[in-house]
Amino acid sequence: MPFGLDSIPGLILLTLCYAALCAKRPYGVCRKCQGWGSKIYTSRFTGRLKRGRACRRCRGYGYRLRIGRRLYNAVTRLRRDGTR
Ligand SMILES: [Zn+2]
Repeated sequence: MPFGLDSIPGLILLTLCYAALCAKRPYGVCRKCQGWGSKIYTSRFTGRLKRGRACRRCRGYGYRLRIGRRLYNAVTRLRRDGTR
């Protein structure tokens, strides 16, 4: 039984851990540029690492908002708009 009742406590624990991670560090490293904020390439003349243009996905910040945090922000905004 790969996905039965036995796996539910583990899943809850995993979700709680992820929620705690999202609360503590809402930003993760950009997957496109690995936190560099731009494209990195080696120069053909000097052989050293050079920075290219800013990453389009994170706009040069090198960080992205976690999916869980984005979800949390969306829920909070929805609730605030609903209860006003
Ligand atoms: Zn990036």
